[in-house]
Amino acid sequence: PYTGPSADEILTKRRQFLNPAIFHFFKKPYLFDDKGRRYLDAFGGIATVGCGHSHPEVVEAVVNQMKRLQHSTILYLNPAIADFAEALASKFPGDLKVVFFTNSGTEANELALMMARLYSGCHDVISIRNGYHGNAAGTMGATAQGSYKFNVVQTGVHHALNPDQYRGIFGSDGLKYAKDVEDIVTYGTSGRVGAFIAEAVQGVGGIMELAPGYLPAVYNTIRNAGGLCIADEVQSGFARTGSHFWGFEAHGVVPDIVTMAKGIGNGMPLGAVITTPEIAKVLTYRSYFNTFGGNPVCTAAGHAVLKVIEKEQLQQNALTVGSYLKDRLLSLKDKYEIIGDVRGRGMMLGIELVTDQQLKTPAKDETLYVMEQMKDMGVLIGKGGFFGNVFRITPPLCFTKEDAGLFPGGCDGLFVVESVELGSEVKGACLGMNGGGVVYMLAMKIKHLRRW
Ligand code: PMP
Repeated sequence: PYTGPSADEILTKRRQFLNPAIFHFFKKPYLFDDKGRRYLDAFGGIATVGCGHSHPEVVEAVVNQMKRLQHSTILYLNPAIADFAEALASKFPGDLKVVFFTNSGTEANELALMMARLYSGCHDVISIRNGYHGNAAGTMGATAQGSYKFNVVQTGVHHALNPDQYRGIFGSDGLKYAKDVEDIVTYGTSGRVGAFIAEAVQGVGGIMELAPGYLPAVYNTIRNAGGLCIADEVQSGFARTGSHFWGFEAHGVVPDIVTMAKGIGNGMPLGAVITTPEIAKVLTYRSYFNTFGGNPVCTAAGHAVLKVIEKEQLQQNALTVGSYLKDRLLSLKDKYEIIGDVRGRGMMLGIELVTDQQLKTPAKDETLYVMEQMKDMGVLIGKGGFFGNVFRITPPLCFTKEDAGLFPGGCDGLFVVESVELGSEVKGACLGMNGGGVVYMLAMKIKHLRRW
């Protein structure tokens, strides 16, 4: 049983001593809250392995390493970092073999952008509107959502049309969106660029899968202009998309630089950049180091995560359970006008709510309402997208069909929560409907909300 401070006490302290810009987080601090109630986590994608977030093999690796050596990355020779770099490199195609460790995704992308600029000799970077890449100088520039940008100098970045298959002007025609990158190179640069950076599936942007055909065409344009292609796999990497280990693989491209973070260490502060030996050489012309990036404890965690993904066949699980869940969500879409779009792959799924299917009017209030209701029912999902009207479902990769599926009373819902305390009205509706689940129930609730 939990014996620490109450949720309210923690909240008070957070408000007093921590970042006032954190706009939302679940009030309940743990998967078991301060009252011992259990929550099903369908959003904590950072915890790649281990429902409950503390996979014993990761915990053991961390504890063992902590007992032996925890210090900077640069001072003492230690096998943990080299072993993990080797294992990580084995997961990449082509000549992507040299790893740099960092403490976060922002740091990884900053390093990637710098290496591309050094290698190409060009400062111009192209990123996609609606993308998120971090919150330091370069990465804030590459990020293309106004709400994450502060009024500080962000030079040399051009934001290309988002190949958004739901709202974009060219639908799913990736080649038409790719033409915009060609135009940016032609009209907005000297004809030479430093880099192109993109997520294969935009996470913060609302689980947007880039239109097919887009990446190969853009990579071609960028390389012809002397630039490097960077894949930001901070959210879509580590088997999350199920069909592939890395998000970019679904597009048939091989990037010049790949960046990772979040799921890499199951919650430990760890990020990484991988590139080719030739590109990596640019950092040997000066001194470059990162004191804590890839320290022995974090790399021990990262290595353990990689082993667990393989041992427990979590990529296959992400594909099987994620596809099942997506099919269920798609069937809900046919029934409910409020669901405008269901998208994503594997355990990276998005549901966009709209008040009008034709106009695609964002159902922002309803999304927030449903998210809060789901939390009260014991299910944690995320919210995102430019308009804040997209549910983000990114559970730990060990999520089972039972978690995603069968409700014990015969109502085949989307999620199961053991200790859920449903109001009798909602429970009755769910059992009576026999075929929907939480979102289904919540679609009911929204109707109630509207009627009120
Ligand atoms: N890239 C992507 C795709 C991300 O989603 C994020 C974080 N949301 C980052 C980079 C930045 O990572 P961090 O917060 O670890 O700096």
